[in-house]
Amino acid sequence: MAQRISHLLQADPSDTLITVEGWVRTKRDSKNFCFFELNDGSSLKNLQIVLDKTTEDISEEIDRVSTGASVVFTGILVESPGKNQSVELQAKSIEVLGEAPAESYPLQKKRHSFEFLREIAHLRPRTNTLGAVARVRNAMSMAIHNFFQERGFLYIHTPIISASDCEGAGEMFQVTTLPLDAVPKNEAGRVDYARDFFGKQANLTVSGQLEAEIYALALKNVYTFGPTFRAENSNTSRHLAEFWMIEPEMAFCTLEGDMRVAEDFLKSVFAEVLRVCTEDMEFFSKWVEKGIAESLQSIVEKPFVHMPYTDAVRELQKAPVTFDYPVSWGVDLQSEHEKYLTEQVCNGPVIVTDYPREIKAFYMKLNDDEKTVRAMDVLVPRLGEIIGGSERENRYDLLLDRIRTMGLNEKDYWWYLDLRRYGSVPHAGFGLGFERVIQYVTGMQNIRDVIPFPRTVGSAEF
Ligand code: ATP
Ligand code: MN
Repeated sequence: MAQRISHLLQADPSDTLITVEGWVRTKRDSKNFCFFELNDGSSLKNLQIVLDKTTEDISEEIDRVSTGASVVFTGILVESPGKNQSVELQAKSIEVLGEAPAESYPLQKKRHSFEFLREIAHLRPRTNTLGAVARVRNAMSMAIHNFFQERGFLYIHTPIISASDCEGAGEMFQVTTLPLDAVPKNEAGRVDYARDFFGKQANLTVSGQLEAEIYALALKNVYTFGPTFRAENSNTSRHLAEFWMIEPEMAFCTLEGDMRVAEDFLKSVFAEVLRVCTEDMEFFSKWVEKGIAESLQSIVEKPFVHMPYTDAVRELQKAPVTFDYPVSWGVDLQSEHEKYLTEQVCNGPVIVTDYPREIKAFYMKLNDDEKTVRAMDVLVPRLGEIIGGSERENRYDLLLDRIRTMGLNEKDYWWYLDLRRYGSVPHAGFGLGFERVIQYVTGMQNIRDVIPFPRTVGSAEF
């Protein structure tokens, strides 16, 4: 069994013959020796391999090796005279499994733009940056599950196909088996969804929240962590058509509890990534966003600022800068405003609460002022909104009223309303885009580079 390179880089020199396998990053020749940098994905760092060329019969094999080739070496781990590593492999044998002809292999030993790498998404995980992103993404997934599991939250698999009309119009991908070139119509001339697969219109989910509420109102603390879809026709560096969302939902919990969990959650995930992915985080700090590891560490150490929307608007109005979108009470905060609040006013994350009801979803609990709702957004420097959450309206009459005044069809919400008729309790939750947090943690500018296979308008190759 081959040894993992991450393990070998920490190991002591030994006379035991070992095997390593991976892809060659570089090959360098001297008179008697050939040096290889080998990577197997287990760590950012490569293992240096030193091969004595004067041994017979291997020059042909060595010639087959270029950047990208897959190779198996056997040898012994020795102390390295080089300054970049403490150990290296003194190879006794080399076996090339797959060549990577230099004339055509797109990944050469130089910096490639992320735009270019997106065109070769089948090869980009072999680069330092995308490899580091993959390891951080993995560690964060585990940290997220651990955070909730340690606190007794149940992981609920909410549906990906949603045939309830609850989630609001626009931005949804339809799921259908109707023949698109001959769509059946009803008497009114509309699409006859009665003849579609589910007997009604169905879409890919934009959020698992409403279904998570069902389980929270039975099992108390639950969370979802799954794919979410939005037909976002916006070409931004923060929006994907397919992304992963984490949505905890807690019964017997008000907005205060919700904010506490959100803050603990972010801090705990940041701390865990710094602990588990030290080397990768150093890489991001050095090459992608200067000092990001320290800035995450400082976020972990101090409490988040809290600020009602009304105060935030006041801060923005007295700001000595002109925003593209002017600010007045009632407008939704744009990302320029969110950045100003976090970077200039609060110098760190801020939780903005109690937004005007008109700009928030129907299910958010109405405050006594009847103008604002118990919503909270966690805003962070560089990125703006990272979490959106709220206490849910748990009062039947008020919820029904909201549904009606917003012009929604109450029939579509019968089961959601039922949750307020039977054993209703204060409950709250939030949603967090997984890729947004990864962007935040790594400093990666474009969301397309923190998901293995980005889906965006006009692009779904690979
Ligand atoms: P935004 O204003 O950035 O479009 P939103 O208000 O549409 O966000 P919500 O509906 O509150 O976002 O979704 C919850 C979380 O999901 C957001 O805080 C964000 O982290 C993430 N998110 C939303 N849309 C996308 C997207 N298209 N791609 C990736 N993440 C997203
Ligand atoms: Mn949006």
